[in-house]
Amino acid sequence: MKAVVVGGGIGGLAAAVALHARGWDVEVRERAREFTDIGAGLAVQPNALRALDALGLGTTVRARATTDPPLGIRHAGGGWLLRNDTDGLRRRFGQWVMLPRAELVALLRAQVPESALRAGSTVTGVLPDGTVRYRDGPGAGVGKGTGVGDLVVGADGIRSVTRRAVLPEAPPPRYAGYSTWRFITTARPGVAAEGSVETWGRGERFGYAPLPDGRVYCYVMANAPQGESKGSPEDELAHLRRRFARWHEPIPSLLAATEGSAVLRHDTYELPDLPTFVSHRHRTALLGDAAHAMTPNLGQGACQAIEDAVELAAALDGAGGDTAAGLDAYDRVRRPRTQMVVRRSRRLGGVAHWSSPVLTALRNTGLRMTPGSSFARSLAPVIGGEGR
Ligand SMILES: Cc1cc2nc3c(=O)[nH]c(=O)nc-3n(C[C@H](O)[C@H](O)[C@H](O)COP(=O)(O)OP(=O)(O)OC[C@H]3O[C@@H](n4cnc5c(N)ncnc54)[C@H](O)[C@@H]3O)c2cc1C
Repeated sequence: MKAVVVGGGIGGLAAAVALHARGWDVEVRERAREFTDIGAGLAVQPNALRALDALGLGTTVRARATTDPPLGIRHAGGGWLLRNDTDGLRRRFGQWVMLPRAELVALLRAQVPESALRAGSTVTGVLPDGTVRYRDGPGAGVGKGTGVGDLVVGADGIRSVTRRAVLPEAPPPRYAGYSTWRFITTARPGVAAEGSVETWGRGERFGYAPLPDGRVYCYVMANAPQGESKGSPEDELAHLRRRFARWHEPIPSLLAATEGSAVLRHDTYELPDLPTFVSHRHRTALLGDAAHAMTPNLGQGACQAIEDAVELAAALDGAGGDTAAGLDAYDRVRRPRTQMVVRRSRRLGGVAHWSSPVLTALRNTGLRMTPGSSFARSLAPVIGGEGR
């Protein structure tokens, strides 16, 4: 049985690994010239680590990452709004890890036969019989072609061509109201980052998490009009330095230890709920951001994509060669779960991005009064896989 995977990000590569391990002949078509990812960090939470264990990669990922649950949420002055019981979280759910995205992509990529990886190949459409049309770019020799699969996996991200082909009526992604900046510090900062922390202000947040090599992954989310830009990456960094100059350490030091070229800025979108993740006619399953792009508030987008990959391969295996039945089983298991995570992530972002002084003061008081145990309980359906 042959599977054509559209998109070689974390979701597509995880799907290729999972299907290959179950005996599928896989082909991954990736538009970019290389299978890699941009310079940012990635939190891989306990639910995704369990999925990576199923792919045989959990131990390696843990060994190459920092492995602690998030410490909690602070306010701009530095005081704690919510302090996690990190030992309790670890005991209840397992490890959290943080590593550069490119490293996870490289680990997944290494599990897929080299001959299956087609970089520089842009998929332009998927036909009802499972035929995938593509155009090879300069990196792979110019040309057009088709690939026919018993299965097509649409893992081509939030602007998925596969989704447009199989669900033309699906609503487009919607802007969440805030922009995101991401960067890994260029040098080790002068002040230690003690663990993974978010600091909440009014309509803006700064997050940081140490990486194993001493550098620190940082992100900022702030309310902004769609499409706003401060100019070049250097201009964006200058803006962030001004914006967070009075926030607690290590934030100003992290910004000082960063070069402008490291800064990535993107608007934040999410995908409205799809009525299905599969099409029998097209023999297609949508997966990852193509199926359920979510706001990054819970740090679960890639985690859910990895879960999708493992569950898709298991569902097809369980259906014993009946692809339609396998697709239905995948949709039944994954759609409710991932759409629940999208909703929770949206709700958290709503509260985190309040900007009114009264509401943020009330929110902060509420956070200070939240016991660690109720925070852990709120994570259980997402991270523990409880309540599925
Ligand atoms: C600021 C921010 C922070 C985040 N932090 C986390 C986190 O800590 N933890 C976490 O789990 N998630 C996080 N996420 C979410 C996570 O990045 C995404 O959910 C995840 O990358 C989705 O993976 P994917 O493979 O489905 O899609 P993508 O990563 O978008 O990959 C899609 C791939 O398909 C390729 N492609 C697209 N179109 C075509 C085409 N027509 N033909 C061929 N190839 C194509 C693209 O080049 C790309 O390589 C974060 C997101 C943001 C925005």
